[in-house]
Amino acid sequence: MSGPPLKSVVVGIVNEFKKCGRCKQLRPPESFVSATGRTMLSCQPCRKYSRRVNQASRDARPGSDRAMNLWTKYRITEAFYDELRSRQGFRCAICGIHEDELPATLAGRPRKDGKPSASAFRLVVDHCHGTSTVRGLLCNGCNSALGHFRDSPEALRRALDYLQSEPPSVPPREVI
Ligand SMILES: [Zn+2]
Ligand SMILES: [Zn+2]
Repeated sequence: MSGPPLKSVVVGIVNEFKKCGRCKQLRPPESFVSATGRTMLSCQPCRKYSRRVNQASRDARPGSDRAMNLWTKYRITEAFYDELRSRQGFRCAICGIHEDELPATLAGRPRKDGKPSASAFRLVVDHCHGTSTVRGLLCNGCNSALGHFRDSPEALRRALDYLQSEPPSVPPREVI
């Protein structure tokens, strides 16, 4: 029998392996390369496990996508949104339509498992585009109407004057 002693072969293999930062197991180097080719600190089974755990915790808290949406878009909490809703009597701050009469706009991405996504927003958050201050909750129609008038009080006043002004006198239609 010749060749390197068994012990040095084993040591050589072990040295090629990397220790996972999470489970502390020795794994082959390819276990630490992500699908996008990045070198990771935890092994593939650990990464797979934590993805499952994260998904399970999202499923357990169906409101969290909605909360995340409110926070990333407007920097308000879900509790503040609900406080605004009840302060406004669950109605649009301009036209007064009740949120139950509004179609639900979906919040967040559709989910892979087919479950309904986060509880929908019926009243949308209206915020000042200059200062990002939240002004109140509106129905989609009123919110986009404000957008069409570029949130300009002057333009809205002119629109009101226009609506209330006397129409120009039109010559009577000739009877044929
Ligand atoms: Zn691991
Ligand atoms: Zn409205």
